[in-house]
Formats: sequence, C-alpha cells, structure tokens
Amino acid sequence: MEKPLIIPFFIPHVGCPFTCVFCNQWEISGEKEAIQPEEIADYVDAYLKKARLWPDRYVEIAFYGGSFTAIPPEKQGEYLQAAAEQKRKGRINGIRLSTRPDFINKEILDRLFFYGVTTVELGVQSLVDEVLKKTGRGHSVADTLTATRLLRKYPFQVGYQLMLGLPGDNRSFARLTVEKAVAAAPDFVRIYPTLVLKGTILATWYKEKKYQPWSLEQAVETAADWLGTFSFYGIPVIRMGLQAVENLSLQQDLLAGPYHPAFGELVESHLLLEQMQTGLSELELQEGEALTLSFHPLAQSKVVGQKKLNLVLLREKYGIERIKLVPQEKLAKNNLEISTASQSVTIKRQDFLKKYRI
Ligand code: SF4
Repeated sequence: MEKPLIIPFFIPHVGCPFTCVFCNQWEISGEKEAIQPEEIADYVDAYLKKARLWPDRYVEIAFYGGSFTAIPPEKQGEYLQAAAEQKRKGRINGIRLSTRPDFINKEILDRLFFYGVTTVELGVQSLVDEVLKKTGRGHSVADTLTATRLLRKYPFQVGYQLMLGLPGDNRSFARLTVEKAVAAAPDFVRIYPTLVLKGTILATWYKEKKYQPWSLEQAVETAADWLGTFSFYGIPVIRMGLQAVENLSLQQDLLAGPYHPAFGELVESHLLLEQMQTGLSELELQEGEALTLSFHPLAQSKVVGQKKLNLVLLREKYGIERIKLVPQEKLAKNNLEISTASQSVTIKRQDFLKKYRI
C-alpha cells in the first residue's frame, strides 16, 4: 500500500503546561509559530498543488507538536473545524493528531469524533513509571493504559510514540516498555531515541554530568529488539528516529545523543544481522571458511550494513574468510539463505521473529 500523503501542522507547545526534560518542540518541529486555524485552507491548497497526487491517494491533515487535546477546547474546535471543512470538501481523507495520554477523556474524544478525527497518536514515551517520573512527564503508565482503553471505544487508529534512553531507562526497562506496549496493542508505533537538545533540561543535566545519553550502538540494538518484537506481533513500526524536516536545525541544536540521519536503516540492518547470526548458529563453521549469503536485491544495503558493518562483524565473530553476496529475486524480502561448500540454511523472517515472542 502506498504511504498516505500527510499535510503536517505543527502546534508546538501551544497549551502544554509541562516541561518534559527532553523537549524542545520548536527545534523538533522546525517552525517558530503555530499555524492559525484560518490559514489551514490556503496551506492545504498550496500543499496539494505541489504534492504528487493520484486518484486514490489517501491524504491526511496531521496536527503534530505539543499536546493537541490540552489546547483550550474552543481553539481545538477551530483547528478541527478547519480540518473537517477540508474533509467535507473531499480534499483530504483523514485527520490525525498527537497528544498526551493524560489529556484523553470522554468529552475530548467525543469532540475528536464529532470533527472526524481518524488517528490519535499518544506520546507514551515509556511504560515504566520510574522513567516517566525522572523525565518529568507528569503522567503515569496507568494514564496511558486508561487512555488507550478509552480510545478503543471509538473508531480511531491509535498510535504509540515511544522513546528509548530517557533518564532512568535501561535495557530491562526498555524490554518492559515493549512488552507492555504489545499488550496494549496499538495500531502502530513510532520509535525515537532520546537526544540531548540545546535549551532543554536534559542539556543542563548533561553538562552537569547527571545524564548520559545512550550510545548509537545501544540505541540501535534496543530499537532492533523493539522492531523485532512489534513485527512478531504484527504491529507496524512506521517511524524510527527523528525525521529531517525543512529548516530543521537539529545538527545545530543537537548537543549529544544517538542521532543518525538513517537511524531506521541502521535498526533494520541490525535486525538482519541478528537474523544472519541465527542462521549461522545452525551451521558448523570451520575457521577460514567461505560463505555465500543470498537475499532479495532490495535488502542488499541493509544486509551489508552501513560501511559494511554487518560483514565486518560476521567475519570477525565467526572467523569467516570470504562472504559472497548473491541477490536473488526469488527470495522474499527479509528471507535469507546462507550456505558454505557443504551446508545450507534458509532463515525466514517469520521464523526468526519467534525469538521475540513474549
Ligand atoms: S508534553 Fe509534549 S510538548 Fe509538552 S513538554 Fe512534554 S514533550 Fe514537550
């Protein structure tokens, strides 16, 4: 299925009474002022003129940024009315917004339903209370689960935005978060590694050595664990890592942390490395042996890894002399075949993912 065309509106910090330690919404959104409801129609016009549209392309207005449902109700109504008007005219198909789990109640959801909102993304971040507390989120895990249950009474798609490497987070808490997230069964998730941005509380803590961001390696490994787990349970991961937005001054504002422009690709590549190792563990390899690795052509860059990292790691760990790469159209995407002169093994993605069963 083609990706929907999303027309994003950033409503940064409007209505947000909180100060999460990692948050620097202005920098993340790359927009200094929130768009006003009366500007939405013209903006949609301009956006649709520039976009690649085809007859059945699904188009959505998305209210990202702060905490949409924490905005005064009249203002929410104005934004939603403007979006609903575009939907009524058939110029868009859906309305999506992101908000905090503790700003969800029946009255709020009735309003969203009334205006035809289709998707609600919750800023869940972590499903461990200790981490939420240290991060200054101001809500609990119970708030998230209650919000999710309430959302399920409406026909909304429910998304979870999750972060790894927050203050107090560690591998076992990250595992707990993914397990609880799977149990809550969102329709999709986004995964973000915690970055230290200038002007945030986290930046102060970092300078005072009270917070140490995760290494890129640790963030990639954990995100791969999450990706494997969500994939096993059929929950799509629609985004990994911050998106490069126009005017984004992330490089300038980034103080520290596991940022990589192709973070998602690194994660997928790491998952393939794990899959290759599962296959190799079934072979009896001799020191200095040559290996043939077959995969779907579209998977090649992820199989090899950035700067050939996966191949380097495999050679080192298993004492492999040579790895011959054989792209094969007949293989399903993410299925692998590994063979030596005398042995061969096929590792199907679905079988490999069983190791992520909870
Ligand atoms: S609730 Fe959202 S917008 Fe408000 S401080 Fe936290 S992350 Fe930033």
